[in-house]
Amino acid sequence: MFIRLIALAPVVVSFSIFAQPQPILIQGAMEIETSTLVSALKESKQTTVGSWTFWQGEIDGYPVVVSRTEVGLANAAASTTIGIENFNPKYIINQGTSGGHDPKLYRGDIVVGEASFNMGAYKSTFKEKGQGIDPTQWQNFDVTMRLRENGEFVEYKQFKADEKLVNIAYSQADVYKNGKVVKGLIGSADEWNREVDRINWFHDTLGTSVEEMETSAAALVAQAYQVPFVGIRVLSNTDQHKQDFDPQTAIDCQLYTLDVVKALIKQQ
Ligand code: SAH
Repeated sequence: MFIRLIALAPVVVSFSIFAQPQPILIQGAMEIETSTLVSALKESKQTTVGSWTFWQGEIDGYPVVVSRTEVGLANAAASTTIGIENFNPKYIINQGTSGGHDPKLYRGDIVVGEASFNMGAYKSTFKEKGQGIDPTQWQNFDVTMRLRENGEFVEYKQFKADEKLVNIAYSQADVYKNGKVVKGLIGSADEWNREVDRINWFHDTLGTSVEEMETSAAALVAQAYQVPFVGIRVLSNTDQHKQDFDPQTAIDCQLYTLDVVKALIKQQ
């Protein structure tokens, strides 16, 4: 009997590892975009890999990992890769601040990203020396990736968010008191644009609702690993209405994301 129990022990141990549900990974770039989430975790454990920090804990008894990606596309891609490799998340939510492009949106409004794309990837057609520079003629560059299954190339104009996550993220719109919540398109780039003519050009030609610096890079990595992904971005500033950066919006976005995560956990 005793020998039998010992023989079973590894099976029991490995079974309990598999029984642990896959966590929800919630990302924010800066300290002000992650500290409210970290405080909401029960008994969090901090891990740093390279210069990217993760906090593992629980919300409503379900495992959640908060990830501080740092600012910009390269940081977002690196930390998403590390987050997936180390924590094997079931879902990824990228949230935080953004600048308004859509004139119908004001500071405090939230955009649930149905899709995101690299707004800073351009190609131009040939012009002779002396013919000048015209950014309005530059075209957005698609991203080419290989399919996981067979290595074939696929072109992505945008990265579509997971439909189920979009709907859950949008389902909390009624409880948000600091503005409206809309579905839209997130443009990501290592840029901070303040020329209103340029902002309007992005909105009119590419359909952007907001700009920020991380979502599409995190979405690219999530796409490669086929992890369901959504971006939730609050307008912290918008030059469409001369509204400057308000750090309180970063906290409001985390509180909204917590409502979304709790709704998602209820469905597990
Ligand atoms: N380290 C800087 C802040 C960087 S702000 C400082 O403290 O001064 C850039 C961050 O804000 C990015 O993570 C980006 O996603 C977000 N962001 C908010 N509004 C933005 C806008 N209008 N354009 C680009 N990024 C914006």
